[in-house]
Amino acid sequence: MLLAAAVNHAAGIADEVWFGAHAGDDAAYPDCRQSWVAAMSDAMRSAYGVGVAAPLSGMTKAEVVALARELGIAREDTWSCYEPDGTTPCGVCACCIAANKAWATAAVRRAAE
Ligand SMILES: [Zn+2]
Repeated sequence: MLLAAAVNHAAGIADEVWFGAHAGDDAAYPDCRQSWVAAMSDAMRSAYGVGVAAPLSGMTKAEVVALARELGIAREDTWSCYEPDGTTPCGVCACCIAANKAWATAAVRRAAE
């Protein structure tokens, strides 16, 4: 649903919409599977002239966080919450917990280097 809204918004101003599906979510969430992304991209490109891509779908969340750190992106610049309080992540939903764990793991790895 959100992806369809993003594609609708992008029509006429962009060729492709990217979203943050990553490896590890594909077992629980069909829309994180590369086959789903390819099918959705074909459908959206046909309907709106805008494709869909999940460029991080081959990476685990920990790998995504490591890449973010390499690029100078801070935890506060990211969003993974399903139950925000306004613009504040809840900190307790499954996505917040997974993101916090990945960022903490990345910090430990970096400190060990
Ligand atoms: Zn949350």
